[in-house]
Amino acid sequence: MSNNSEFITVAIDGPSASGKSTVSREAAQKLGYVYVDSGALYRGMTWKAVREGVDVKEPDRVIALMECSNWEFFLDDKVLKFTIDGEDPTAQLRSEPVRERVSDVAVIPEVRAFMVDRLRETAEFGDLVMEGRDIGSVVFPNAVFKFYLDADPEERARRRYRELLETEGRGDEKQVLDSLKRRDLKDSSRKTAPLQIPLGARVINTTRMAIEEVVDFIVREVKRAEGA
Ligand code: C5P
Repeated sequence: MSNNSEFITVAIDGPSASGKSTVSREAAQKLGYVYVDSGALYRGMTWKAVREGVDVKEPDRVIALMECSNWEFFLDDKVLKFTIDGEDPTAQLRSEPVRERVSDVAVIPEVRAFMVDRLRETAEFGDLVMEGRDIGSVVFPNAVFKFYLDADPEERARRRYRELLETEGRGDEKQVLDSLKRRDLKDSSRKTAPLQIPLGARVINTTRMAIEEVVDFIVREVKRAEGA
């Protein structure tokens, strides 16, 4: 179930815009590990539902769609990618329709069970840095390295807002903060695998830290243990 294999998993959890995506990607690069963004799978399922006109508030329909869709996983420059029914959804995963619906998809227990199985299978690709909400608690509870990144909501909203300006050329900071708080509440209050600090995780508050500092801290910890 979790990786007792010879492969190493670095589990990085935390709320949205805590810095975990950038940190995880860069830490994976520096360590030479595969990078897995678990949120992309939940976003992928959401993208598929939107594309097929399935209302995410109807779990049975989402589950039926998930069960008849074909997912294939592959590595692109040590980054986990996937196709659903032969289509690569990467470019659409951060679009507004997906962003607004993904928490509703992620609360469906059957969807979570499916994604957890897929995520565990990625251990076949080798040493991993995997980021998400339940990696150190549910997906790989025996991971040797567990980190939990956090930051104040206002700082997280500022980061997300800057990201939106870069990717979409527009954004509303207040709206971003409201949307982020809504998502935090849904993610931490859901019954199945709520966002929580995994047992044994090192908590890093990134509010006043530069990305590089966080990356270096994680890489140092892993390398120190690797060399031990
Ligand atoms: O990390 P990201 O913001 O891309 O995740 C999108 C959504 O996917 C989260 O708001 C959460 O609802 C869900 N998610 C999850 N468990 C994970 C990763 C993401 O429930 N391990």
